[in-house]
Amino acid sequence: MKARYLAAGIGGTLALTAGAAMFLEERRETSQVLAHESLPDALVASSALASESDLPDFSASFPILRKPEAVALAFPSIPTELPPESFEPLPWTRTVVQGDTLDALLRQAELDPGLRAEITLAIQAEFDLRGLRPGHSLTIQRSPEGQPRTITLAIDDGVQVVITIGKTVSTRTIEPVPVIAERADELLINGSIFVSLERSGMPARFAVDLAQILGNAVDFRRDLQGGETLKLLWQEKQLEDGTEVGEPRLVYAALQLADARFEIVWPDAEESSATIYHDGEILRVFSPPVPGARLSSVFGQRKHPVYGNMRMHTGVDFAAPRGTPVKATGPGRVAFIGRRGGYGRVVEISHGSGTMTRYAHLSGVTEGLEKGRRVDAGDQIGQVGATGTATGPNLHYEVRVEGRPVDPMSDDRMTQMAQAEAPADATARLRVARLRLAETLNLPRRRQAPAVLSTKGDRT
Ligand SMILES: [Zn+2]
Repeated sequence: MKARYLAAGIGGTLALTAGAAMFLEERRETSQVLAHESLPDALVASSALASESDLPDFSASFPILRKPEAVALAFPSIPTELPPESFEPLPWTRTVVQGDTLDALLRQAELDPGLRAEITLAIQAEFDLRGLRPGHSLTIQRSPEGQPRTITLAIDDGVQVVITIGKTVSTRTIEPVPVIAERADELLINGSIFVSLERSGMPARFAVDLAQILGNAVDFRRDLQGGETLKLLWQEKQLEDGTEVGEPRLVYAALQLADARFEIVWPDAEESSATIYHDGEILRVFSPPVPGARLSSVFGQRKHPVYGNMRMHTGVDFAAPRGTPVKATGPGRVAFIGRRGGYGRVVEISHGSGTMTRYAHLSGVTEGLEKGRRVDAGDQIGQVGATGTATGPNLHYEVRVEGRPVDPMSDDRMTQMAQAEAPADATARLRVARLRLAETLNLPRRRQAPAVLSTKGDRT
């Protein structure tokens, strides 16, 4: 546990102003990316479905909980049931919504400007307020006299920044210790993979992973007639109370079509390439340039997000926050580092046989990376940014063969190049993955989650 003692000062106010302005700027860009760029056709309609049904409708069973006012009205009855000395005001809580700043929230809680500046400064010491996002929440616990005592900012993955106000103001960050649970399930495909996953209660975001990796080998419209089997093995991080944190991570997938079986084995966390098997034989190795990122725009003709006209989109885009690591998708040599007009800051890697990959709009290039340097698939080469003509932070990833852009998701040369990269123990790994799936599938449903493999994280 670390605690910092801070005095209020004008610096806090300045930091807040700058931080809030930059935060707004960054978010504006991001929402433009979302508005302009398009998902692959197969995923679009079903994404809309997902966002609707992501929010279960509790209105019928718990009408009163929907309105914060209703909760507040119920409150005065509580103290009468408790002895007076245990009286403690109910905490004041707000969930951050689009457009909120920390100062605005503190103002809503009717804190005076001096204290607001002090709290802001204290939080800023532990958490960069430009990272404040909708869904985070602020809770203020007051003393029976009405003085703010603790201020808790709950950010992502159960992490809390806690400010304690006494004679001085102290800050500490509480990080939960998640456990990793392995889970498995199987389904019969009916409709798109996305819809099928959602209906079965499996994480629907896996549809994006599967589409990205199998897009080249499987024609999702033609090959999925309904009735195909999909089996998945994945890991989830959970807190003690069962809350999921982070994103679930696929370990193994098996898609049984009428006339073919595709399997994917994902590596352990540190590596980044997945191995794809067709009827038990290695088909290719997939090494995404931004592991886990959302594919936000595909290759081909599209309406340009900045210029508005129809243009050829010469690569694919991955939406990811500024600073997210960008990795080489295959082994090769760095051929160019620098600026290229609308591409902004780019790294280009030459893979031989006239094949080149280009990573554009980078905010930074990995230190020490220089022209002529050898890289392997999965090596970090830079960070996601918005340099050049970009509506927001994203990686524009391009594959060129003899100078001409080709679809990175279907290019055979990249496949051949990656094939050489297949891990030596690929067949053994497939066997182990199949066994793990079978074992986990055989566990009763409720036994799956507590199957703890390891723990990670420290309390600080
Ligand atoms: Zn692009």
